[in-house]
Amino acid sequence: MTDTVLAGGTVVTAGGSFPSDVAIDDGRITAIGPDLAPDGGEVIDASGLLVLPGVVDVHTHVRLPSNEEPKRFLQDSLAAAAGGTTTFLSFNNPGTGISAAGQRSLLRGMAEFRERTAGESAVDFGLSAVITGQQDDPIAELPALIQAGVPTFKAFMVYDFRLPDAELARAMQVAARHGGMLQVHCEEPSIIDPLVEHALAAGDVGCRHHALCRPASAEASATRKAIELAREAEAPLYIVHLSCEGALEVVAEAKARGEPVYAETCPHYLTFTDALYDDAEESEVIKRVISPPLRSGRDVDALWAGLRDGILDTVGSDHVPDRVAIEKHLPAPPFPEISNGGPGIETLLSVTWSRGVAEGRLSPERVVDVLSSTPAQLFGLRSKGAIEVGRDADLVLFDPAARRVIHEPELHHTSDYTPFEGLEVQGAVRSVLVRGRVPAPGTGTFQERALA
Ligand code: MN
Ligand code: MN
Repeated sequence: MTDTVLAGGTVVTAGGSFPSDVAIDDGRITAIGPDLAPDGGEVIDASGLLVLPGVVDVHTHVRLPSNEEPKRFLQDSLAAAAGGTTTFLSFNNPGTGISAAGQRSLLRGMAEFRERTAGESAVDFGLSAVITGQQDDPIAELPALIQAGVPTFKAFMVYDFRLPDAELARAMQVAARHGGMLQVHCEEPSIIDPLVEHALAAGDVGCRHHALCRPASAEASATRKAIELAREAEAPLYIVHLSCEGALEVVAEAKARGEPVYAETCPHYLTFTDALYDDAEESEVIKRVISPPLRSGRDVDALWAGLRDGILDTVGSDHVPDRVAIEKHLPAPPFPEISNGGPGIETLLSVTWSRGVAEGRLSPERVVDVLSSTPAQLFGLRSKGAIEVGRDADLVLFDPAARRVIHEPELHHTSDYTPFEGLEVQGAVRSVLVRGRVPAPGTGTFQERALA
């Protein structure tokens, strides 16, 4: 039996591209090859289009539904679908709307996340739990979370909810022994905190000082430390949102030693430089208050080389659906109080593809690898991330010839701006299937994961 045949497209996988039909039955890919018979099913004309595996975005901070904003999670999941993302992992850090009780305990946080998101997503999704120094005994709860299908955890080396180094090492070790992996935000507070104090004392409270107080050296030094802790703990390590050449070099050294160290970058670090902080308008600079901040042109070039060389493994959005009018708000408070982050769940594929493939920096296969196959593999999404018989039919029909300009009013996300406003991109999502179905409210299901 066949439900659907995608006919006449070009299938792109991490290993190669080839013209082929794709047959789908009961949500899974059942055949890949020429001239597949529809067998009574629907035929979707994919001629002139690429057939990509759906994007797996492993770095988002989607907001939980609340009484005031009951559709917030759903709406960002619809935005993900519109952009070609068929699975996302979300963190449940305090800013996402998790309750105080859910913040104190990993197990309560997971239960609350599952309860509040049930039936609330158009695409498949999962949880990466956040471990903080403000929880009661998070390390004791790690094995139970891993057992329950949440094997990845974000920990921070900076902020008031950071995990002290000794606890970070212990968390890495316990997670690793039970089949889990930490995702670490690497910035060194002993470099950043004095710079912040000095800036505030000097009255330098404007938005741009956020970036000036978070130098690349602080990221490189924390990245080095995290890798050392992981080596001593004999644990795998995933470095989130790597933004600079110095951190990249430390990751390259770890990989050369054969250590299981993985690193992610984000579309904004591949697109913009810190020149944007020179803008005179606070209303523009506040949109770029993110951690780590934007870096130099030399860093941007290094990140592209890192993606080509395999030093960087994935690209994630680090989606934070903050609104300039609400969470960030103007006039801006002193910079340490500005909500960090920016939206990106809907623009991940279009920006990475356009800057990568259309501008000749990466092959189509490499983009599929860093956006779909490797994130699925590293994060234990075994039925995702590839176009293969037996995998979930999470597929994107993509028109590589289309040109468009990214504009906020055309996006579906719950933010009120896009960092990519006015960016002309080549390539457009034409249609998306999640387990063979057109994404709609409630079609997405929670993914219990187990790392390979
Ligand atoms: Mn972070
Ligand atoms: Mn993040």
